[in-house]
Amino acid sequence: MTNPFQLLGISDDVVNAVKDLGFETPTPIQEQSIPVLLEGTNDFVGLAQTGTGKTAAFGLPLLELIDFKVNKPQALILCPTRELCLQIANDLKNFSKNIANAHVVAVYGGANIMQQLREIRQGIQIVVATPGRMLDIIGRKAIDFSNVKYVVLDEADEMLNMGFQDDINDILSTTPDDKKTWLFSATMPAEVRRIAKNYMDNPVELTMGTKNTGNVNIEHEYYIVRARDKYAALKRIVDFNPEIFAVVFCKTKLDTQDVAEHLIKDGYNADALHGDLSQQQRDKVMQRFRERNMQLLIATDVAARGIDVNNVTHVINYSLPDEIESYTHRSGRTGRAGKTGISICIINSKEVGKIRQLERIIGKQFTKAELPTGFDVCEKQLFSLVHKVHNVEVNVEQIDQYIPRIMDEFKDLSKEDVIKRFASLEFNRFLDYYSKAPDLNAAVGDDRGERGERGERRGRGSEGYTRLFINLGSVDEFTRGDMLSFICNNGKIGGKSVGKIDLKGVFSFFEVEDAVADTVFEGFKSVEFNGRQVRIEKSGDGGRGEGAGERRGGGERRSGGGGFGGERRSGGGGGYRGGGDRKSGGSGRREGGNSGGGFRDFSGRSRDEKGGNTGGSGRREGGSREGGSGERRKKW
Ligand code: AMP
Repeated sequence: MTNPFQLLGISDDVVNAVKDLGFETPTPIQEQSIPVLLEGTNDFVGLAQTGTGKTAAFGLPLLELIDFKVNKPQALILCPTRELCLQIANDLKNFSKNIANAHVVAVYGGANIMQQLREIRQGIQIVVATPGRMLDIIGRKAIDFSNVKYVVLDEADEMLNMGFQDDINDILSTTPDDKKTWLFSATMPAEVRRIAKNYMDNPVELTMGTKNTGNVNIEHEYYIVRARDKYAALKRIVDFNPEIFAVVFCKTKLDTQDVAEHLIKDGYNADALHGDLSQQQRDKVMQRFRERNMQLLIATDVAARGIDVNNVTHVINYSLPDEIESYTHRSGRTGRAGKTGISICIINSKEVGKIRQLERIIGKQFTKAELPTGFDVCEKQLFSLVHKVHNVEVNVEQIDQYIPRIMDEFKDLSKEDVIKRFASLEFNRFLDYYSKAPDLNAAVGDDRGERGERGERRGRGSEGYTRLFINLGSVDEFTRGDMLSFICNNGKIGGKSVGKIDLKGVFSFFEVEDAVADTVFEGFKSVEFNGRQVRIEKSGDGGRGEGAGERRGGGERRSGGGGFGGERRSGGGGGYRGGGDRKSGGSGRREGGNSGGGFRDFSGRSRDEKGGNTGGSGRREGGSREGGSGERRKKW
């Protein structure tokens, strides 16, 4: 059967190379652009989102049009960031690996210029460059563009936003007049239109998807929380999605650093990416993220531009961007290469108007989602663990030698008991952490939280009763009657002082008359059940149990959140850091601690979810190009 890339006019060498990369069928943008660009006779404007297969859309035709026998620059690709530059160069090297004498050079700032000059001197046909460094090299008269036949301006809107207009003008003035220019842009603001008009002659225009429309594979959700609960909400979202692999966007470098530091302290596998880091530091962070040795990348808009990491499951807008158009770039980090993704906005009730604006601009509806309760999170994590246990690859050769000893240790326990204990080992840690978790959802127009009133009564028991949590439930084979006697016997109270008993799986809630609450606490001080310390606590003011049912429904509706499991992180192993160092606490970096796929350590966490008040400090990314683009962009 003929390969579909061959049908588009791509030669065998290149087809075989893309096959090796797993490209079986062309993406829509490739299908539309390749035949047009292969003619090599037109200027071209492609309005396309990132992550749609743009690089191959222009890269494959370029490889067909270049004369690789000649060691002179024939194609110049300009792009906004170092990351994108490296990615494009790398892609082109991969696409051309079967072509004899094909040479691609990446020219970007923050790296040794001598090495780049050396590569250029050795003879290259394709230059992929960021504008600043390109201009530097042109200024040194170290490159001759007189044979350039094709110029690609990739992510043109971003280059303009970053203030590269003059640099681009200067660079293009050194290329021949009869070259063809191919421009790709996610959006088409007036400035990009102007470039198309000034530099191009009757360009063929293709729009992939509707103008300004976000990627169809991305679902958009928003959560309304009080400003002070933002960080807790972020953690709740992450905990509810055990397989999350996300980019979290903050507005400023300071916020980025702050959120990342709090997450790391709380035991999550996170790191920050922003413009104050040295190039080497940024490369390191990106490498860890790309290799899945990090679960959460906390980034500023500028630093994250052009990041192409596959299988990012979620983009989280910890703060909405200042410029509306940045939202498309942010959300485009997920849902790449035909995968689905979720873009989440954590907002306060005053920002709902911005969501409506975004809906209008990207032409898609945002779903208002409810933050899961602590109970939902516990349940989700428990079953994530159960699935992992079920699917874990067993190293028979290694484990077999220990089996007799293990069996001996467990000989008094039934299979059910072993399973219960095993699941509890991890699950108890979530329970500990979430037993007092408040409801973080705020209603539209609800700014009570900012005034410090948090609906104190919502989690309380009936009038005159105190609602208590107990870490025993139906899995411990308690019926409601058993629980009643257990409470009365240990709490040293009469049955009529006990109100509602709400039996859950591994924990329960019960009410006792306010007057006897202290007696019950006293009575349960050192009670054990099946070798386990029994714990009772006042149910949190958010009422995890109350409303758990209805919110859980909400949680399940968001099944997209948990629906990636199969394809992701297959090598990820267990959900948390395993092993004996758990008690050592959740502080410190998790560098390299990922062989087990471990992410966090609940035993080491602060109980106070709001520990990390990272609220927007108002400082913006300042300086140079990192923040300098704001002026021209569309504000809210
Ligand atoms: P790009 O928009 O060029 O950054 O591509 C986004 C991602 O899609 C990259 O990881 C590519 O490797 C991948 N990709 C591009 N074209 C195809 C294709 N035809 N089939 C499968 N994956 C592709």
